[in-house]
Amino acid sequence: PTSTTTANRPVTEKPKEKKKVQEKPINLPDPPEIIVDEQGTRWARGKLLGSGGFARVYDAQNARGEMRAFKVIAKKHLQSKKARSKILAEIMIHSSLKHPNVVRMEDTFEDDEHVYFRLELCKAGSMNDMVKRRGRYLDAEARYFMVQILAGCQGMHTSNIIHRDLKLGNIFLDEDMNVKIGDFGLAALLKDQGERKKTVCGTPNYIAPEVLYDDGEGHSFEVDVWSVGVILYTMLVGKPPFQTSNIQEIYTKIKKNDYHIPAEAELLVEAEDLITKILAPKPSDRPSLIEIMNHPWFTCGAIPIYIPMQATVSEPRLT
Ligand code: ADP
Repeated sequence: PTSTTTANRPVTEKPKEKKKVQEKPINLPDPPEIIVDEQGTRWARGKLLGSGGFARVYDAQNARGEMRAFKVIAKKHLQSKKARSKILAEIMIHSSLKHPNVVRMEDTFEDDEHVYFRLELCKAGSMNDMVKRRGRYLDAEARYFMVQILAGCQGMHTSNIIHRDLKLGNIFLDEDMNVKIGDFGLAALLKDQGERKKTVCGTPNYIAPEVLYDDGEGHSFEVDVWSVGVILYTMLVGKPPFQTSNIQEIYTKIKKNDYHIPAEAELLVEAEDLITKILAPKPSDRPSLIEIMNHPWFTCGAIPIYIPMQATVSEPRLT
């Protein structure tokens, strides 16, 4: 349904104003068929992997057969000062992060018409594609993915970066099914661990309650912890906890902490306990990433050491 699509797209304005969410790129020049990077390496542009607000992402191959993803932004979209400073912030934040569970940003460069990000290619697509194709994941798979999501998150937080748009659609998988957190378009770099951010941003289904409250308190790292809770719920139940057809209703439900775990999902008591702890309305009541990692849900059942890529389309047989 269209409502789901809208609810999974980011908003950067106050929810009450209910303005447009995002514009699709129209009448844009195609990026060149051969993209030449900063080092002079020539990359043959392949297929369009996806497009977001401003960006189109393609795969590309060099003469040595190496493949990368190129995020291409038309300069037409960067005419305002605000748009340019957002892209610069994304570049600064993303390129500073070097972690096995964060999409590597290898290079940024530009020509007359475009700005390019050369990124590690995530061949298995996003975890959202996977849940759309398969529905909920097995408990063991969810543990495998959660460990890596938490590790990537910890890497960002220790660098004073809040992602602020963590969702299954921004979590990618490489060909070995390693988790790679991507899209730092809404991320914030804090001056110190104590700074509070005030801008309303995030994606409706995954947005933390304190972001919706306009009480001047601001928000911090706990918003990512909240999103991790929404991610865990979605992996195990097959749909997000606050899903409804209307965005305002989603916000009301989030503020009231109005969600329940359907009995037919047959969640382990440990899983239910962990979700409940993470989705605590008060940010300070939420567990830290380390506390999440130490929760009994991780040890009450199997964690596979390897998941086959076939798991992106059908339930894997795990040994
Ligand atoms: P935006 O910030 O405009 O939303 P994203 O960075 O989320 O753009 O990328 C848009 C889409 O491109 C993603 O949803 C995904 O399908 C694809 N994509 C982005 N980065 C990669 C990557 N490193 N490897 C493979 N596909 C990617």
